[in-house]
Amino acid sequence: MAEVLVLVDHVDGDVRKSTLEALTAAARLGEPAAVFVGAGAQGAAEVLGRHGATTVYAVESPEVAEHLVAPTAEVLAQLVQEHSPAAVLLPSSNDGKEIAARLAIKTSSGLVTDAVDVAPADGGGVQTVQSVFAGSYTVTSVVAQGCPVVTLKPNSVPVEETGGGAATVQAVDAQVSDAAKAARITERKEKAASGRPSLTEAAIVVSGGRGTGGDFAPVEALADSLGAAVGASRAAVDAGWYPHSSQVGQTGVSVSPQLYVAAGISGAIQHRAGMQTSKTIVAVNKDPEAPIFELVDYGVVGDLFTVLPQATEEISRRKG
Ligand SMILES: Cc1cc2nc3c(=O)[nH]c(=O)nc-3n(C[C@H](O)[C@H](O)[C@H](O)COP(=O)(O)OP(=O)(O)OC[C@H]3O[C@@H](n4cnc5c(N)ncnc54)[C@H](O)[C@@H]3O)c2cc1C
Repeated sequence: MAEVLVLVDHVDGDVRKSTLEALTAAARLGEPAAVFVGAGAQGAAEVLGRHGATTVYAVESPEVAEHLVAPTAEVLAQLVQEHSPAAVLLPSSNDGKEIAARLAIKTSSGLVTDAVDVAPADGGGVQTVQSVFAGSYTVTSVVAQGCPVVTLKPNSVPVEETGGGAATVQAVDAQVSDAAKAARITERKEKAASGRPSLTEAAIVVSGGRGTGGDFAPVEALADSLGAAVGASRAAVDAGWYPHSSQVGQTGVSVSPQLYVAAGISGAIQHRAGMQTSKTIVAVNKDPEAPIFELVDYGVVGDLFTVLPQATEEISRRKG
């Protein structure tokens, strides 16, 4: 069975959920093999192996890890040349998409970005599914040339532990051109930690919209009682009430948690595009005609400043 390369997204060796999703998807197409850039491949081999990777290609050279995306694209092209994989999967992050585009050019391959599903195509190759125009159309495509390069949207594929033990780590002798090293990373600063899970990886997300009037305290209190991440509508972030990085929707992040709570959010199509695949959706809105109620599992018609504190109190009481 041909290998399927998965570029590992990690923070100082901690593998992100998007990589586990990509490994799960890769197992449908062939034999998943992880490509780990930077220090920490050995430490990550267990989690990568448990999620299906048989091999971890470790690229520790500072020439790759300390530069921007270009060297990673070159190393992936080198691995595609050496191993002829069935596909290369990357996360649909800004870096992931830029690396994917460079890789596709270097290997004369077809590229699909923001896929929400992958499967073996009839007659060979890889079939991808994209959800476009705010989720109103589903596009199915098959890459017709080269080694399919696919970026996967976060939270599109449920993570499965498809593997056995730890993956075998294999060092890669990276050949990086001078041109690829033109831009070097000089400093990395970690954002002040909020203590909440990351928005794209959280099992529960509580989001606030214009209906909060800028007061996110009840949204944050409910989120904290549930161990949830906090999201926001574009109206809320455009008003400066919450950081842009928290925007859920077509032009923000896509989330697909077990539970999504929308408080004071009307349910515009652009917002839905980023949360409609959540497993259970709850909305609190004082307008019974709000469009968000068309897609909810549970709807509460009421003032969020009354409903959210009551819910928070009850959750805290039950947790003891
Ligand atoms: C190209 C494009 C891209 C976009 N991308 C995004 C995107 O990524 N994400 C996104 O969210 N939007 C996006 N938008 C904007 C989107 O169209 C909506 O304008 C936006 O989602 C509205 O945000 P909202 O629901 O918070 O505000 P509103 O639509 O104003 O809704 C506020 C809701 O709060 C309710 N409410 C008010 N007070 C209370 C209260 N006290 N208690 C309970 N309910 C209350 C109201 O009944 C109302 O339903 C995009 C728009 C365009 C054109």
